Amino acid sequence: MRLNGATQLLGVIGNPIAHSLSPHIHQIWIEKYQKDAVYVPFFVENLDDFCSWAKKSNLHGFNVTVPYKEKILKYCDYLSDEVKLMGAANTIVNKAGMWQAFNTDAFGFYKSVEQELAWQAHNKTALILGAGGSAKAVVHSLVQNGIEKIILCNRNLQKAADLLFSYQDKCKCEVLEYSQLIPLMQHLPEETLMVNCTSVGLQGESIIPNQFEFNASLKVYDLIYKPETALLKSAKEQGIPAKGGLGMLVYQAAAAFEYFTGQYPKVEYVYEKGKLNLE
Ligand code: NDP
Repeated sequence: MRLNGATQLLGVIGNPIAHSLSPHIHQIWIEKYQKDAVYVPFFVENLDDFCSWAKKSNLHGFNVTVPYKEKILKYCDYLSDEVKLMGAANTIVNKAGMWQAFNTDAFGFYKSVEQELAWQAHNKTALILGAGGSAKAVVHSLVQNGIEKIILCNRNLQKAADLLFSYQDKCKCEVLEYSQLIPLMQHLPEETLMVNCTSVGLQGESIIPNQFEFNASLKVYDLIYKPETALLKSAKEQGIPAKGGLGMLVYQAAAAFEYFTGQYPKVEYVYEKGKLNLE
């Protein structure tokens, strides 16, 4: 694709940003669908500085990653209903100088779980570990899709309670300490989904104790996609269906690509061309 003066500028902001797979994923679709666009990583140290430049620039749209998903909201002119509820955005579209904020993480998570673990939330229970930004998207998607009960386990219990507060009238909500995790495992209903939304596992450490016994009817999803976490490895060793978060990344990117270009892309194409099979 030949770049020119009218080529649409897209990108992702974060700090750090060098590890991001988003430029690779979006560029594959840009080429496949012959969009006159380019998608680049922006290392952003100061969000104020970036936004005052970007507002005056030809930046057509951008994704937002750690640590700016919440901080970006005050620079936006329109927030989707999901963004208002979650308090976080990962996709910004510049419509004639007006910044519109969307969140595609919730869609990405649910689509991945549905497709890759053949699991649906309706009338089921989910056990979520972590109550940070990604947990907000996970909880939101589960509630949207009819979950019956959410059990949220976090070190900081107040943060967990705050996250669940606005969903209390939509499903059963319970906050749990890590010390209660093992006894709880014996009493989880059939087909419970366990989701790791913490950053524990990135350095090889484990969010669950050694010799943790999974309930046989559990399914496990870990938002971390690289490396394969100790949680995923031990679930698989015990014959439990388990998936890493690569699918979430790809599906959230697909929904963002649609916001940027009007086209929902084929996700399979990224796996084929992008050599993304990390597991
Ligand atoms: P946040 O920093 O917002 O939240 C981190 C969470 O991890 C908090 O709940 C924190 O608990 C918990 N935590 C951190 N260290 C520990 C520990 N030692 N023991 C127990 N809990 C701990 O991060 P995000 O929610 O944005 O991201 C979490 C993970 O999900 C990251 O690894 C990220 O890469 C991944 N992710 C993957 C995505 C994908 O597309 N696959 C999308 C988004 C995120 P506390 O509140 O008690 O401090």
